[in-house]
Amino acid sequence: MTTSEGVPTEAAQRHLELSARIDEANYRYYVLDQPTVTDAEYDRMMRELQSLEADHPELVTPKSPTQRVGAPITTDFATVEHLERMQSLDNAMSADELLAWDERVVKEVGEVAGYLCELKIDGLAIAVTYEKGRLVRGVTRGDGRTGEDVTNNVRTIGALPDRLAGEGWPDVLEVRGEVFLPVEGFDQVNAVQVEAGKEPFANPRNAAAGSLRQKDPRVTAHRPLSMLVHGFGAWEGGTRPESQSGAYEIMRGWGLPVSDRYKVVGGLDAVREYIDFYGENRHDPAYEIDGVVVKVDQFSLQRRLGSTSRAPRWAIAWKYPPEEVNTQLLDIKVGV
Ligand code: NAD
Repeated sequence: MTTSEGVPTEAAQRHLELSARIDEANYRYYVLDQPTVTDAEYDRMMRELQSLEADHPELVTPKSPTQRVGAPITTDFATVEHLERMQSLDNAMSADELLAWDERVVKEVGEVAGYLCELKIDGLAIAVTYEKGRLVRGVTRGDGRTGEDVTNNVRTIGALPDRLAGEGWPDVLEVRGEVFLPVEGFDQVNAVQVEAGKEPFANPRNAAAGSLRQKDPRVTAHRPLSMLVHGFGAWEGGTRPESQSGAYEIMRGWGLPVSDRYKVVGGLDAVREYIDFYGENRHDPAYEIDGVVVKVDQFSLQRRLGSTSRAPRWAIAWKYPPEEVNTQLLDIKVGV
């Protein structure tokens, strides 16, 4: 049996079922900050959905979870439209998928002189706008087009300057980055949650999201949130940099928090070395990472590669296998 579009009924039903389960998981993860399925299970469902859609392109609609970012916003915060859309990242789950991504890039734009490798921080994306060098707005990614106005809470993040240092900043600069809780902060926040008789957060990402989306900025101020820059959206006026690494160095000069762990490398072998290094030294950084992000460094090439509806084609996330140890560690501590 097939549907009116000629898709086998069984595949259409499975598509419906998976979409509903992923929508529900998105709501619990992004809106409630309380996931009920593991990331591995979520990724498995998403992969199955992508593979169904690859076999039956008629199933792809703008509503499909494969085409969207985050979850529809349900919030008590004011909502703000992003100056430029915030996207997600495509994943490479195997060496073959990483190679396939590199081959697609090279086919499209020729040999790439520089890949920027950086850590994939387990936090939540934020867009922080500076106008004439002053912090005026902080907005969560939300569904990518519209986010929640968390400006007052963002102002409590010590790593973010209220005024940019130096000179030459654009009239409007929308800094993009990851808000996170360092490992120590995560344990601390969860211990307080448990003491107050509340459920501990499942992972640092949910703890950071829950902390940033507090109604009372005084509560957020007590959560040791930090932030690292991983891009920018709007850049109006001033001289635009020519590469991702160039932008990072300029933003570092303005006092913005830029990681010193990123590296620009010449090709896929060096990308693999970076991935292997942090696979073995995953706990070196003071914050949790769930992978490595590889970006084509030159903006002219990024523009040529463009984006799909939910992710840039010029970047790929390599995910390390999940480590579900944090709540166990906390249980031991709390039990003492
Ligand atoms: P993602 O976490 O796979 O990758 C995109 C995000 O990575 C960006 O939006 C940005 O916030 C972040 N990031 C961190 N470091 C970065 C860097 N250096 N450069 C660029 N971006 C960086 O994508 P997502 O759309 O936020 O979430 C999807 C993932 O979230 C899933 O793969 C799954 O692991 C998890 N998830 C889990 C559930 C669940 O119920 N367990 C539900 C929804 C999502």
